[in-house]
Amino acid sequence: MHDLRTFTHDQHRVVDDVPYGGGPGMVLKPEPIFEAVEHLSQGSGKVRVLLLSPQGRCFHQTLARELAAEGHIIFICGRYEGVDERVRTHLATDEVSIGDYVLAGGELPALVVIEALVRLIPGALGDETSALEDSFSAGLLDHTHYTRPASFRGLEVPPVLRSGDHEKIRIWRRQDALRRTLLRRPDLLSQALLSEEDRRLLEEIRKELA
Ligand code: SAM
Repeated sequence: MHDLRTFTHDQHRVVDDVPYGGGPGMVLKPEPIFEAVEHLSQGSGKVRVLLLSPQGRCFHQTLARELAAEGHIIFICGRYEGVDERVRTHLATDEVSIGDYVLAGGELPALVVIEALVRLIPGALGDETSALEDSFSAGLLDHTHYTRPASFRGLEVPPVLRSGDHEKIRIWRRQDALRRTLLRRPDLLSQALLSEEDRRLLEEIRKELA
């Protein structure tokens, strides 16, 4: 974390100012942000400069994967009314929103982005294959998960998961992921890469639900 006040040159280390044209709130000044980013980029090759903003493109697992492969990312966190527009147009390489709501600052959005991408870096998770099956990774929602006990307050774990038959379990999980996606996020299905087997399983689900 870097304090923007470090990159000011006035006695009061001012980082914000009133908006041109009047109106409420303050705007983060461009000079400290440009200086900070230029200082932090020195010696690095290509640097991704992410401006967190509710007006940016919505953060998504695909972008998390792309960012996880980057060597150096700088996050610019706004406050107040946000940052001077010249930061967006001439410094940021990306403008990213974490959803259609407005927070007081960009720090939590930056942490959200960081956590989503860090868990995709090889070695971050105990078992790397778990990220491959997560929701959105392969275009579908994840299948359901159960752990012990097998019976809890009369609620049973599906017997197939206790059968030890790995092929049956694989098919059951795939069908479960397809069913959940169809019921909860049908919009994802139109983008997902589906195999012949997936299409057959989906057909069965549609018949089951009809
Ligand atoms: N006036 C701005 C607008 O309406 O678009 C909102 C500014 S917001 C109060 C202050 C800062 O919080 C923003 O500059 C941004 O860094 C951060 N922020 C707020 N909501 C966000 C969101 N949904 N995604 C990413 N960053 C957000």
